[in-house]
Amino acid sequence: MPELPEVEVVRRGLDAHVVGSTFGAVEVLHPRVVRGNDVDLAEVLPGLRITGTDRRGKFLWLTLSDYAALLIHLRMSGQMLVSEPGLVDSPHLRIRAQLTGPDGIKELAFVDQRTFGSWQYVPLAEPSSGPSHNRPVPAAIPHIAADPFEPDFDTVAVARRMRTKNVAVKTILLDQSVVSGIGSIYADEAMWAARVKPTRKGRALRQRDAVALLEESRAVMARALEAGGTSFDSLYVNVNGASGYFSRSLNAYGQAGKPCARCGAPIEKTVVNGRSSYFCPVCQTL
Ligand SMILES: [Zn+2]
Repeated sequence: MPELPEVEVVRRGLDAHVVGSTFGAVEVLHPRVVRGNDVDLAEVLPGLRITGTDRRGKFLWLTLSDYAALLIHLRMSGQMLVSEPGLVDSPHLRIRAQLTGPDGIKELAFVDQRTFGSWQYVPLAEPSSGPSHNRPVPAAIPHIAADPFEPDFDTVAVARRMRTKNVAVKTILLDQSVVSGIGSIYADEAMWAARVKPTRKGRALRQRDAVALLEESRAVMARALEAGGTSFDSLYVNVNGASGYFSRSLNAYGQAGKPCARCGAPIEKTVVNGRSSYFCPVCQTL
């Protein structure tokens, strides 16, 4: 499952290669990838220009010239490919869309081996709540809180909110209505970096520890994003959500039994609210 950094890599690739282009013919090759739509993508998309790309947490969308959005769910195996028309030859090709831009005609293809992903045409709406919700997001995701990369992400306010919760820190970091985009890997890494025990209750956190957790979450995802690389071939862009996924250096996640990079004690695995959590029992004591 791609996490925030991987989705951001895809967004940057799309931003560089499809913004300013206008949809031509759209061909849907598998009904499952358009589930959840009230409209027929092949009818509604042609003629619309892609005005931008955006992301909140793990959600990625293209903004369109009719002020709606094309929300792209990559799920397990979704890939976005930009190429010259007709180049994509995959048995897992699910949608092909012709794009006309300043640099000619291209094809935007959605390839998804496991077919859990989808494209969804949705209106943009003003989000319902939250101090940092000040830009339109797809109406399908109003409950998703801002992620730590958004310029108006309010670390202090989110930290305060974390401290009102009587549940484990790990659970709070994964709660997309508090802070979005942090998955299990980055939550474990942030807790290791901030020396916070995964089972510590939000209520028991000091403000500075909650702030540190959010700052470390952002930092570890920023490092993953850097490692993910953003080199795209101009002709055939494979903006694959899995890029860079295995090249991260991890201090906690998946490291059970290995020595902690800070104190040498073996990393332990525990389960918090049904999710595996890796931590150092010696130096994660906050
Ligand atoms: Zn340690």
